Amino acid sequence: MKILVVEDEPDLLRVLAQALRESGYAVDEAADGEEGLYKARAWEYDAIILDLLLPKLNGWEVLQRLRQERKTPVLILTARDGVQDRVRGLDSGADDYLAKPFHLTELLARVRALIRRSAGLAVSEMQIGQLVIDTRSRTVSRDGSVIPLTPREYSLLELLALNRGSLVTRTQIYEHLFEEQEESFSNLVDVHVSNLRRKLGGDFITTRRGQGYLLHD
Ligand code: CA
Repeated sequence: MKILVVEDEPDLLRVLAQALRESGYAVDEAADGEEGLYKARAWEYDAIILDLLLPKLNGWEVLQRLRQERKTPVLILTARDGVQDRVRGLDSGADDYLAKPFHLTELLARVRALIRRSAGLAVSEMQIGQLVIDTRSRTVSRDGSVIPLTPREYSLLELLALNRGSLVTRTQIYEHLFEEQEESFSNLVDVHVSNLRRKLGGDFITTRRGQGYLLHD
Protein backbone atom coordinates (compact mmCIF):
# COMPACT_ATOMS: atom_id res chain seq x y z
CA MET A 1 0.00 0.00 0.00
CA LYS A 2 1.36 3.40 -0.93
CA ILE A 3 0.53 6.77 0.61
CA LEU A 4 1.31 10.26 -0.68
CA VAL A 5 1.93 12.87 2.03
CA VAL A 6 1.59 16.51 0.96
CA GLU A 7 2.85 18.75 3.76
CA ASP A 8 5.04 21.85 3.68
CA GLU A 9 6.28 21.73 7.29
CA PRO A 10 9.49 19.68 6.97
CA ASP A 11 9.40 18.31 10.53
CA LEU A 12 5.80 17.18 10.28
CA LEU A 13 6.39 15.70 6.84
CA ARG A 14 9.32 13.72 8.18
CA VAL A 15 7.42 12.45 11.23
CA LEU A 16 4.39 11.44 9.15
CA ALA A 17 6.45 9.64 6.53
CA GLN A 18 8.42 7.78 9.17
CA ALA A 19 5.33 6.68 11.11
CA LEU A 20 3.68 5.43 7.92
CA ARG A 21 6.80 3.56 6.83
CA GLU A 22 7.09 1.95 10.27
CA SER A 23 3.51 0.77 9.78
CA GLY A 24 4.53 -0.91 6.55
CA TYR A 25 3.38 1.59 3.92
CA ALA A 26 5.47 2.83 1.03
CA VAL A 27 5.47 6.63 1.19
CA ASP A 28 5.98 9.36 -1.39
CA GLU A 29 6.38 12.93 -0.22
CA ALA A 30 5.50 16.34 -1.65
CA ALA A 31 6.38 19.67 -0.03
CA ASP A 32 3.95 21.92 -1.92
CA GLY A 33 0.59 21.76 -3.66
CA GLU A 34 1.92 21.69 -7.21
CA GLU A 35 4.22 18.76 -6.57
CA GLY A 36 1.44 17.04 -4.63
CA LEU A 37 -1.08 17.40 -7.47
CA TYR A 38 1.48 16.25 -10.02
CA LYS A 39 2.25 13.06 -8.08
CA ALA A 40 -1.37 12.41 -7.14
CA ARG A 41 -2.31 12.49 -10.83
CA ALA A 42 0.71 10.56 -12.05
CA TRP A 43 0.56 7.58 -9.69
CA GLU A 44 -2.01 5.30 -8.20
CA TYR A 45 -1.94 5.86 -4.43
CA ASP A 46 -4.00 3.97 -1.88
CA ALA A 47 -4.54 7.19 0.08
CA ILE A 48 -3.33 10.78 0.19
CA ILE A 49 -2.71 12.86 3.31
CA LEU A 50 -3.13 16.48 2.31
CA ASP A 51 -2.37 19.62 4.28
CA LEU A 52 -4.64 22.54 3.32
CA LEU A 53 -2.33 25.54 3.73
CA LEU A 54 0.37 24.83 1.17
CA PRO A 55 2.64 26.96 -1.01
CA LYS A 56 2.07 27.24 -4.78
CA LEU A 57 -1.33 25.54 -4.78
CA ASN A 58 -3.47 25.20 -1.65
CA GLY A 59 -5.04 21.93 -0.55
CA TRP A 60 -8.58 22.81 -1.69
CA GLU A 61 -7.35 23.52 -5.22
CA VAL A 62 -5.30 20.32 -5.24
CA LEU A 63 -8.43 18.42 -4.23
CA GLN A 64 -10.73 20.04 -6.77
CA ARG A 65 -8.36 19.40 -9.63
CA LEU A 66 -7.56 15.87 -8.49
CA ARG A 67 -11.26 15.01 -8.24
CA GLN A 68 -11.73 15.78 -11.92
CA GLU A 69 -9.79 12.62 -12.72
CA ARG A 70 -9.13 10.45 -9.66
CA LYS A 71 -11.07 9.03 -6.72
CA THR A 72 -8.03 8.35 -4.52
CA PRO A 73 -9.12 8.58 -0.83
CA VAL A 74 -7.95 11.87 0.70
CA LEU A 75 -7.49 12.73 4.38
CA ILE A 76 -7.05 16.47 4.93
CA LEU A 77 -5.10 18.03 7.78
CA THR A 78 -6.71 21.16 9.17
CA ALA A 79 -6.28 23.66 11.98
CA ARG A 80 -8.00 22.77 15.25
CA ASP A 81 -10.56 25.56 15.02
CA GLY A 82 -10.91 25.51 11.25
CA VAL A 83 -14.54 24.48 10.93
CA GLN A 84 -14.90 26.42 7.68
CA ASP A 85 -11.70 24.82 6.35
CA ARG A 86 -13.00 21.36 7.10
CA VAL A 87 -16.36 22.05 5.49
CA ARG A 88 -14.68 23.47 2.40
CA GLY A 89 -12.31 20.51 2.28
CA LEU A 90 -15.07 17.95 2.58
CA ASP A 91 -17.12 19.82 -0.03
CA SER A 92 -14.11 19.76 -2.36
CA GLY A 93 -14.01 15.98 -2.21
CA ALA A 94 -12.01 15.06 0.89
CA ASP A 95 -13.01 11.75 2.47
CA ASP A 96 -11.98 12.51 6.03
CA TYR A 97 -10.14 15.13 8.06
CA LEU A 98 -7.91 15.34 11.09
CA ALA A 99 -7.31 18.53 13.10
CA LYS A 100 -3.77 19.53 14.03
CA PRO A 101 -2.22 18.69 16.41
CA PHE A 102 -3.18 15.02 16.23
CA HIS A 103 -1.98 11.71 17.60
CA LEU A 104 -0.14 9.51 15.14
CA THR A 105 -2.15 6.48 16.29
CA GLU A 106 -5.35 8.26 15.25
CA LEU A 107 -3.87 9.26 11.90
CA LEU A 108 -2.85 5.66 11.22
CA ALA A 109 -6.29 4.36 12.21
CA ARG A 110 -7.96 6.84 9.88
CA VAL A 111 -5.67 5.90 7.01
CA ARG A 112 -6.47 2.22 7.54
CA ALA A 113 -10.19 3.01 7.63
CA LEU A 114 -9.95 5.09 4.43
CA ILE A 115 -8.21 2.32 2.53
CA ARG A 116 -10.66 -0.24 3.88
CA ARG A 117 -13.70 1.82 2.90
CA SER A 118 -12.38 2.50 -0.59
CA ALA A 119 -12.06 -1.27 -1.04
CA GLY A 120 -15.65 -1.69 0.16
CA LEU A 121 -14.73 -3.46 3.41
CA ALA A 122 -16.79 -2.80 6.53
CA VAL A 123 -14.49 -4.59 8.95
CA SER A 124 -10.75 -4.86 9.41
CA GLU A 125 -10.51 -8.60 8.75
CA MET A 126 -10.61 -10.43 5.45
CA GLN A 127 -11.06 -14.16 5.10
CA ILE A 128 -9.56 -15.93 2.10
CA GLY A 129 -10.15 -19.66 2.35
CA GLN A 130 -8.37 -20.71 5.55
CA LEU A 131 -6.45 -17.46 5.77
CA VAL A 132 -7.45 -14.55 7.96
CA ILE A 133 -5.91 -11.20 7.03
CA ASP A 134 -6.08 -8.64 9.82
CA THR A 135 -5.54 -5.19 8.30
CA ARG A 136 -5.31 -3.62 11.77
CA SER A 137 -2.40 -5.65 13.06
CA ARG A 138 -1.17 -6.33 9.50
CA THR A 139 -0.93 -10.03 10.21
CA VAL A 140 -2.04 -13.15 8.42
CA SER A 141 -3.02 -16.33 10.22
CA ARG A 142 -4.18 -19.81 9.40
CA ASP A 143 -6.07 -21.85 12.01
CA GLY A 144 -5.16 -19.23 14.60
CA SER A 145 -1.40 -19.30 14.03
CA VAL A 146 0.30 -16.28 12.53
CA ILE A 147 2.25 -16.80 9.30
CA PRO A 148 5.46 -14.73 9.47
CA LEU A 149 5.57 -12.34 6.51
CA THR A 150 7.89 -9.43 5.78
CA PRO A 151 6.14 -6.02 5.65
CA ARG A 152 6.38 -6.08 1.87
CA GLU A 153 5.00 -9.58 1.55
CA TYR A 154 2.12 -8.52 3.77
CA SER A 155 1.46 -5.43 1.62
CA LEU A 156 1.48 -7.54 -1.51
CA LEU A 157 -1.00 -10.01 -0.02
CA GLU A 158 -3.25 -7.21 1.20
CA LEU A 159 -3.25 -5.60 -2.24
CA LEU A 160 -4.18 -8.89 -3.93
CA ALA A 161 -6.81 -9.61 -1.26
CA LEU A 162 -8.45 -6.18 -1.55
CA ASN A 163 -8.73 -6.86 -5.29
CA ARG A 164 -9.53 -10.53 -5.02
CA GLY A 165 -11.08 -12.08 -8.05
CA SER A 166 -9.56 -9.36 -10.25
CA LEU A 167 -6.29 -9.28 -12.09
CA VAL A 168 -3.68 -7.07 -10.43
CA THR A 169 -1.05 -6.06 -12.95
CA ARG A 170 2.66 -6.08 -12.28
CA THR A 171 2.69 -2.31 -12.79
CA GLN A 172 -0.02 -1.87 -10.14
CA ILE A 173 1.93 -4.03 -7.71
CA TYR A 174 5.04 -2.08 -8.45
CA GLU A 175 3.30 1.24 -7.88
CA HIS A 176 1.67 0.16 -4.62
CA LEU A 177 4.73 -1.43 -3.07
CA PHE A 178 7.73 0.64 -3.99
CA GLU A 179 8.56 4.28 -3.35
CA GLU A 180 9.53 6.56 -6.20
CA GLN A 181 13.14 7.01 -5.16
CA GLU A 182 13.69 3.35 -4.41
CA GLU A 183 16.16 1.43 -6.47
CA SER A 184 14.33 -1.66 -7.56
CA PHE A 185 14.36 -4.29 -10.24
CA SER A 186 11.55 -5.53 -12.36
CA ASN A 187 11.89 -9.11 -11.13
CA LEU A 188 11.44 -8.02 -7.51
CA VAL A 189 7.69 -8.39 -7.82
CA ASP A 190 8.10 -12.03 -8.92
CA VAL A 191 10.48 -12.71 -6.05
CA HIS A 192 7.94 -11.40 -3.50
CA VAL A 193 5.13 -13.37 -5.12
CA SER A 194 7.11 -16.57 -5.04
CA ASN A 195 8.09 -16.07 -1.37
CA LEU A 196 4.47 -15.35 -0.52
CA ARG A 197 3.31 -18.51 -2.31
CA ARG A 198 5.82 -20.60 -0.41
CA LYS A 199 4.75 -19.20 2.96
CA LEU A 200 1.00 -19.39 2.35
CA GLY A 201 1.07 -22.81 0.77
CA GLY A 202 -1.86 -23.93 -1.38
CA ASP A 203 -2.58 -22.18 -4.65
CA PHE A 204 -4.15 -18.88 -3.69
CA ILE A 205 -2.22 -16.86 -6.24
CA THR A 206 -2.61 -17.46 -9.96
CA THR A 207 -0.13 -16.08 -12.48
CA ARG A 208 -1.45 -14.60 -15.72
CA ARG A 209 1.60 -14.71 -17.91
CA GLY A 210 2.80 -11.30 -19.05
CA GLN A 211 -0.12 -9.60 -17.25
CA GLY A 212 -0.07 -10.01 -13.51
CA TYR A 213 -1.49 -11.97 -10.62
CA LEU A 214 -4.88 -12.89 -9.26
CA LEU A 215 -5.96 -14.07 -5.84
CA HIS A 216 -9.04 -16.19 -5.41
CA ASP A 217 -10.87 -17.79 -2.51
CA1 CA B 1 0.90 23.99 5.90
